[in-house]
Amino acid sequence: MPRIAVIPGDGVGPEIIDAVIPVLETLSDLMNLPLDLRFFEAGDETKRKRGVALPEETLNGVMNSDATLMVAIGESAREVILPLRQKLDLYVNLRPAKSYPVPRAIPGFDLTIVRENTEDLYVMSGWRGLDTAVDLRIITRRASERICRFGYRYARERGKSRVYVVHKANVLGGCMLFREVCSRVAEEEGFDYREMYVDSAAMRIAMDRPFDVIITTNMFGDILSDLAAAFIGGLGMYPSANIGESRAIFEPVHGTAPEIAGKNIANPMATILSAAMMMGWLGHEGGSKLIEEAVRRACELGYTTPDVGGSMRTKEVGLKISEIMREIG
Ligand code: ATP
Ligand code: MG
Repeated sequence: MPRIAVIPGDGVGPEIIDAVIPVLETLSDLMNLPLDLRFFEAGDETKRKRGVALPEETLNGVMNSDATLMVAIGESAREVILPLRQKLDLYVNLRPAKSYPVPRAIPGFDLTIVRENTEDLYVMSGWRGLDTAVDLRIITRRASERICRFGYRYARERGKSRVYVVHKANVLGGCMLFREVCSRVAEEEGFDYREMYVDSAAMRIAMDRPFDVIITTNMFGDILSDLAAAFIGGLGMYPSANIGESRAIFEPVHGTAPEIAGKNIANPMATILSAAMMMGWLGHEGGSKLIEEAVRRACELGYTTPDVGGSMRTKEVGLKISEIMREIG
């Protein structure tokens, strides 16, 4: 029985989790697969109450689970996500931007961004003088090699052939190393090595999309994935996974969306699709497909929140998706 840690977090997190739980329970029922869901707290509210954003039992809960589903952490995100990422060595940030039939999504858009998750400008090292600020960018052979290998293997498993390594090696030394490592890994994994400068890749995402998978460094991955979000109807539709050797944390790409928190209009689909990714990662591919298919039908039927053109509440969307799962499951 898979043990799943659930962290609602801050902002829209709790109301979204309310909508996601029925989906997981329905799945568990239909697949005759008991799921051991354990709830843990973390984030701003936790810090206010208890003085720490990531309490010991949450950390242990995540470490002792097979997978974690988290929604969003507010201002204390660095105190929660960074230690988790480090402890579990979650070196991949996998962001599949796939369009569902909602207004403003480009039909057929399907681009997975494989973003390095441990270094680059996010090492948070540098200094600030009065008139000068310096941010350190670290790129290592080891991190480049493992993200790249993950990217190519992921592409092979999914039958995706147009894999591009995206960088800015005409300007940045770190990118030269990244490119050198990636071109070797491509060859070892049996792929033609294809690459593109990040500026060019941004334009091509908007224009003609010659790629299925983009493997890239941390900051470029961050920026390109928000661009990709624009083609699938926004952040409310965008799931992600942080993956290590034996652990993973699944979460929507979006944050706490504070201005809509408490209104019950947040779109739960990004988190529901993250839960689908989680089921796939746990080896229940059928469950994953079932959730995705139910989300697709819910979109077609207009069972959606206002951000993607509907008028349903967060919880209702979760219930509708559960109903559809029962119909088709
Ligand atoms: P944080 O500081 O936690 O990252 P943020 O203000 O940057 O929060 P995000 O959650 O990243 O906000 O989202 C940016 C915008 O996208 C929000 O202002 C919100 O309008 C919209 N948005 C994000 N997630 C959702 C969602 N699940 N449903 C509807 N709209 C969303
Ligand atoms: Mg944000």
